[in-house]
Amino acid sequence: MGPTRNVVLLGATGSIGESTLRVIRKHQDRLKLIGISAHQKGEKLCQIAHEFAVKNVHLGHEKDIRQDLHAETNFSTGPHALNELAALESADLVVVAVVGAAGLAPTLAALEAGKDVVLANKESLVVGGELVMETARRTGAKILPADSEHNGVFQCLQGQPEKSLDSIILTASGGPFRDFSVEQLSTVTPEQALKHPNWSMGPKITVDSATMANKGLELIEAHWLFGLPAERLKVVIHPPSLVHAIVQFKDGCTLAQMSPPSMTFALQNALLFPDRMEGVEQGLDFSNPLDFSFSPPSPDKYPCLKLAQDCLVKGGTAPLVFNAANEVAVAAFLRNQIGFTEISDIIKDTLNTADFPHASSLENLLAFDQEIRVQASAFLQKLA
Ligand code: NAD
Ligand code: MG
Repeated sequence: MGPTRNVVLLGATGSIGESTLRVIRKHQDRLKLIGISAHQKGEKLCQIAHEFAVKNVHLGHEKDIRQDLHAETNFSTGPHALNELAALESADLVVVAVVGAAGLAPTLAALEAGKDVVLANKESLVVGGELVMETARRTGAKILPADSEHNGVFQCLQGQPEKSLDSIILTASGGPFRDFSVEQLSTVTPEQALKHPNWSMGPKITVDSATMANKGLELIEAHWLFGLPAERLKVVIHPPSLVHAIVQFKDGCTLAQMSPPSMTFALQNALLFPDRMEGVEQGLDFSNPLDFSFSPPSPDKYPCLKLAQDCLVKGGTAPLVFNAANEVAVAAFLRNQIGFTEISDIIKDTLNTADFPHASSLENLLAFDQEIRVQASAFLQKLA
């Protein structure tokens, strides 16, 4: 049995946060929670702090929850303090389960400090992939993919020579509107979009799954994690979400990773890697028939996927523009400000008018990200 790992969990109150806590609860002899953060939901954060006797607690929102924590707890607030928590000296592993581009700075802070990162936050790689990968290479910190597809690929690649890899195929459930016509999609409500058929996730990624912007973000994430160009990264619709990733090798052989649609499998793999121990949940049950069907996605129904693929090909700051416009549009859709099909319209309009300056430092990337959000919000005002 390996040594106990000190874990910092950023985004502890979210969906990935909860799944991570389930793994930590099960393996308390291997994983010790020493730091947690949330943007809001101070009460929930306090509960987690008490249950796991967490020493370092960060709440982004102004509210001071110090009085509800143990007197010896280090409590902090503000973005600088979040980056400090990500680089906490006694941490061995930092789980980045923050949602959106806000995950970039703490991911970089952790890697810069040489901490291994369990990365659920895909937007950090979409916005700053080059910088993130370069920082990890320079400091020797490992990135352990926790997005289920990428963790699946990571598992399939263990022990395989790098040159043997031909292509990667990410599976997608197709979301709740897989069988809707293009016309039906225009009337979809946030309540309908938030009901994913297989996965229970935070609101942003649930909408991203319905538009398949999520799979687009994941192709870009896979490009950075596994070093393949766009033409060797593919997507296939697999409705039951049992197979998460498929890897094809030069010799024509294919490996796939499968497990039930719950994030505890990928998270435990990343948190305990390379060890395999009893899981939080049961694995697949092959005593009943299982559906292993695959079909190609329909481009008309999923314009966000095509836009993301174009951005991956274009490279540079194009993926950043895609992501920022998507974050603005999804938030507006969830506020009932725009329709479901207008999410891709906002992204398209923003991509059509943006210039794509070279940006490689964190400061430049974040400044450009803000600029794009302003532009996307202007398109939003025209539609709303
Ligand atoms: P969520 O909305 O449920 O939780 C987000 C967490 O981040 C919360 O703890 C919140 O307080 C915190 N947060 C929000 N805004 C923040 C900010 N500006 N700064 C710092 N912290 C902030 O989201 P989730 O579904 O758990 O997703 C988290 C990340 O993991 C996303 O990048 C998502 O794409 C990725 N992911 C999620 C799943 C899933 O099953 N939920 C699967 C694969 C990948
Ligand atoms: Mg995924």
